[in-house]
Amino acid sequence: MPSIRVLDPSVVGKIRAGEVVDRPAAVAKELVENALDAGSTLVAIHAASHPERMIRVQDDGSGMSREDALLALRRHATSKIESAEDLARIRTLGFRGEALASIAEVSRMALSTRSVDELTGTQVEALGGAVIQVSGVGRAVGTTIVVEDLFFNTPARLRFLKSREAEIRVLSRVVWNYALTYPRIHWKFSVEGREDTDLPEARDLLERWEVLYGRGSEDASAAFDHEAGGIHVSGVLGTPEQARASRDYQTFAVNGRVVASATLGAALRQGYGNLLPGERYPLALVLIEIDPALVDSNVHPTKREVRFRDEARVFQVVRRAVEASMRRYVPSGIAFGEAGGPGAVGEPPGSAGYGVGGSGTSSQVATLPAQGVGTEAGESLLLALDAPRLDASATAREREDGDVEEGLGEPEIPIWQLHERYLLAPIRGGIVIVDQHAAHERILYEEARSHLYDGTGASQVLLFPRVVDLTPAELDALLMLEPHLRRLGYEASLFGERQVAVRGVPASIPEEAAIDSLKAVLASVDTLGEGGDPPEEHIAKSFACHAAVRSGQVLSPIERRALFDRLFATSLPHGDPHGRPTYVRVSMEELDRRFGRR
Ligand code: ADP
Ligand code: MG
Repeated sequence: MPSIRVLDPSVVGKIRAGEVVDRPAAVAKELVENALDAGSTLVAIHAASHPERMIRVQDDGSGMSREDALLALRRHATSKIESAEDLARIRTLGFRGEALASIAEVSRMALSTRSVDELTGTQVEALGGAVIQVSGVGRAVGTTIVVEDLFFNTPARLRFLKSREAEIRVLSRVVWNYALTYPRIHWKFSVEGREDTDLPEARDLLERWEVLYGRGSEDASAAFDHEAGGIHVSGVLGTPEQARASRDYQTFAVNGRVVASATLGAALRQGYGNLLPGERYPLALVLIEIDPALVDSNVHPTKREVRFRDEARVFQVVRRAVEASMRRYVPSGIAFGEAGGPGAVGEPPGSAGYGVGGSGTSSQVATLPAQGVGTEAGESLLLALDAPRLDASATAREREDGDVEEGLGEPEIPIWQLHERYLLAPIRGGIVIVDQHAAHERILYEEARSHLYDGTGASQVLLFPRVVDLTPAELDALLMLEPHLRRLGYEASLFGERQVAVRGVPASIPEEAAIDSLKAVLASVDTLGEGGDPPEEHIAKSFACHAAVRSGQVLSPIERRALFDRLFATSLPHGDPHGRPTYVRVSMEELDRRFGRR
């Protein structure tokens, strides 16, 4: 490590100095970061039960020469940067050269250190920032810093400390956060009379994680790793069951520095989608590696927060990475659609078993022109049937007729409908509850998007064109959106001054819903561009929202099954396009817990 220099005042001016030390945890953070910057392989932290009385951090890093040890306690003395330009290239955790000075100023500090080049070490003792003694000391290479009587000369700050328990809790979080971020380092952490942890070097993030958090019950926590556009994000994500009521167990680090970031927190939460109920926060370790020039670490006095040059981009990359990892929690035990996914127009995932007496599978129906649609067989395969056709008698008829039932391929896994709004099914390790409207909305949204962006959706030609009255504004919108509407599967032409004749509608939804959603899409031009959505996105959302089955609609067993299969074949089954959950999973663990079985 290069030797310490006192920074030029012009550089100092550019550094946001501030109150670095506000509580014992801040002392631990600064000392731990220094130990890491010094290339240590072992870091040992010890705190008294009242941590303001004593914190000791010991490392086996580079150590300091006698000269450096004395300089280290001076303000803006750092070995880590030299010029203002260096600020844009920071790779070290420290760079302001003021932590040791600030801590020394408000405590009794003893610094003992030895660098590899020296035979004896140096011990410096300071009180309230003034060096009171310097002596030689025999010791191993590395550094030990003991901070005692923190805030002895600033009683006001002492009074601001929370309870002993609270201070220890925060301090522990600092240590755990770094221990998680640096698994290759051997950590020791003890708190007088309660905590004593030894974490030998771990193989990787996951191994360290499991030592601290355990494996998780049902599906183990998993490491993830994802790179996009120069942003590398990796880490470990806890299982939904492990989620807590507070954000305390989330660790974010940017280029090795543990930080808080609302952006990262939000991206993480969204990535979990509805796997978690509202007020639960996943356990997570999210590490970002990014060009330091794209990060401003200098916004906060304790560097606790970072700002990214492109917050939106980082948000997106992290959210996607988390989402991708969450796909492993998609309920299994329910057959997935084959090919499936967006763009598989009307293709019934898991289509086997949907053929009705050979008179047409739903994929035929979806792509079939007029004559196929409207027949009993065809209609019964459409997902969103009108309520009248779904009345109890129709369902009863199906049930009575054993042959038909067999022909329909009644799914082995029962799916129940609850209050005409939710679908329930047993899955491996629990049950899943699907919101029928939100789920269908997600399916139709992905279909619509893929049509709008990549091609044209199948259209069902109406036997009798529907004439629809439009306001002048809606007519305007129609002219503007015509190409988009065609890609969705609509065929419409002007019919007189204020009317259009709709000759074709998207094949995957019933005619009534298609007309409703056409009007909704036309009305939605009013808000086009709001929220920054491109037109395709905007149209896909309003289309899906109005075309989807409603709460209150009865679904036949086959429709329920199709909804399940198609939902779990979408790219993001967790949420509807507005971010509302599409399904909730309740694990057996949770049920067992609630019934007092464990
Ligand atoms: P900064 O970390 O911002 O440089 P600090 O006040 O935290 O400022 O530390 C001042 C200097 O003291 C560092 O630049 C480093 O050279 C030296 N130093 C502090 N702690 C250690 C340590 N544990 N091992 C080796 N050198 C250290
Ligand atoms: Mg430092």
